[in-house]
Amino acid sequence: MTDIINTAENADLKKTNFIHLQITDDLNQRKNNSRIHTRFPPEPNGYLHIGHAKSICLNFGIAEKFGGKCNLRFDDTNPTKEETEYVDSIMNDVRWLGFDWENRLYYASDYFQKLHDFAILLINKGKAYVDNQDAETISLQKGTPTRPGTESPFRNRSVEENLDLFMRMSNGDFDEGDCVLRAKIDMNSPNMHMRDPIIYRIMKTPHHRTGDKWGVYPMYDFAHGQSDYWEGITHSICTLEFEVHRPLYDWFVDHLMDSDYRPRQIEFARLNLTYTVMSKRKLLELVKDNHVNGWDDPRMPTISGLRRRGYTPESIRNFSDRIGVTKVDGVIDVSLLEYSVREHLNKTAQRVMGVLNPLKVIITNFPENETVELEAINNPEDESMGTRIVPFSKEIYIEQEDFMENPPSKFFRLSPGREVRLRYAYFITCNEVVKDENGNVKHLLCTCDLASKGGNSPDGRKVKSTLHWVSAEHAVKSEVRLYDRLFSDENPDGHKEIDFKQFMNPDSFKKLPVCYVEPFVKTAKPLDHFQFERLGYFNLDYDSTPEKPVFNLTVQLRDSWAKEQSKG
Ligand code: ATP
Ligand code: MG
Repeated sequence: MTDIINTAENADLKKTNFIHLQITDDLNQRKNNSRIHTRFPPEPNGYLHIGHAKSICLNFGIAEKFGGKCNLRFDDTNPTKEETEYVDSIMNDVRWLGFDWENRLYYASDYFQKLHDFAILLINKGKAYVDNQDAETISLQKGTPTRPGTESPFRNRSVEENLDLFMRMSNGDFDEGDCVLRAKIDMNSPNMHMRDPIIYRIMKTPHHRTGDKWGVYPMYDFAHGQSDYWEGITHSICTLEFEVHRPLYDWFVDHLMDSDYRPRQIEFARLNLTYTVMSKRKLLELVKDNHVNGWDDPRMPTISGLRRRGYTPESIRNFSDRIGVTKVDGVIDVSLLEYSVREHLNKTAQRVMGVLNPLKVIITNFPENETVELEAINNPEDESMGTRIVPFSKEIYIEQEDFMENPPSKFFRLSPGREVRLRYAYFITCNEVVKDENGNVKHLLCTCDLASKGGNSPDGRKVKSTLHWVSAEHAVKSEVRLYDRLFSDENPDGHKEIDFKQFMNPDSFKKLPVCYVEPFVKTAKPLDHFQFERLGYFNLDYDSTPEKPVFNLTVQLRDSWAKEQSKG
């Protein structure tokens, strides 16, 4: 496996990259009348993932940076895998990330007629032929990178025969697999993609947009460059595996061009992340076989999953800037993604107190039926977010793990006889531990120093820790969903003999049904972000009801990535 990229320099935002430099060059040479036009071309065969986000940020980012345009184009040339549900989700995700294709929404299927006409033009030029051999034979004849291919016996059919056969293919006279249309290029080319590539195949599946109008469908390579050309794309940016397709891309453009404008393909390294898989096929498998709860399961690396998990568009865009754009394949440490959301939410998220594993505390010297209103800071990083009122009363909850009956020497939180601060509230001292008949702690009896209101020391005496808490009477009973990495292996895809699903983390999801959060969250809407003080960032899930809010853990406060960096 390639090195994992998580060096400290990645924490800096990268503002320029090699593609920007190439575009600057093109602009300096006034290529294409100094027009800059990119496109994001997803195939609607699944939901977008964080790898697509890199491509979206790059393509739309270039348009923004150079005053150009970026199209959204659905590359929908394979009707067997494509669905409207995916089209809708993709548009939603691109918009959510903060990008706008304005009125430039296209589909490769918009060009089916033009592509078909172009195929006929190639046949007329003697540059394409119908091959009646089966797929296996064609593939065997392709040869290897070191051994030349073999010409098909159908390669030298007349133009008339090819035209007739292609029309009959298109009209549904043949069955799937009976024949294909191939470009006539060079069976001896050192580039395998130039050895008479297939450009049209027969498919009888109805298309999600064109229904059963077409009996033949263009191959990706045949559709892509031409779609770019017709849209006036100047820079067609794709991932590295298409580098070897570039001569073919150029070959088609050469046969299509009737002006001095030409699109240029530039390749960059795709994003890989540790502890996840990123191919749509594998993500689809996780969804279809119910290994996760849908495409937007908060553990998924999909944009919809990240959104539901509590990621913000800004954090994903910043992540994308941080990882930069290169020509070298690498694997990015997923903690860099977590760092980006933590950094953004630190600046923007509303602070609240929430108790995940409640332990009741009764303040014996606090009057019954009295509520004291305390002032709490909404975000110490952003004064403009102001303050809020947090109610305090005789019975509160604290976190179970903030109390120990017999603490070891390094434990500074609450224990019998010890005084601690309740954030924004009072100093309290634990006097008694009340247990049930099995010896389990039921609740604690504490006293508070009424002179320490606001959590301020009345006489300069110090306490060693500050706990978060929630007033029992005012608390909002909530469900909290905790998430961990979906895979316990750094590279679940990297084991040739073992299926990636074998590496799924059995503890990636845990539901805490009874948590208590301060009343401030009552008015929250799904996807609102919060920092639960001392714990982490959470957001309100779509499954919430007014009776029972549901929160997702976005990311814990502790920054394992930054820590590792400082360790060196
Ligand atoms: P997958 O391999 O996940 O199925 P794909 O490349 O088949 O992805 P497309 O819908 O064709 O998916 O991708 C649309 C655009 O997003 C393409 O330009 C593709 O190069 C880019 N893209 C896809 N995956 C990544 C990735 N991991 N990193 C960067 N760009 C990506
Ligand atoms: Mg693809």
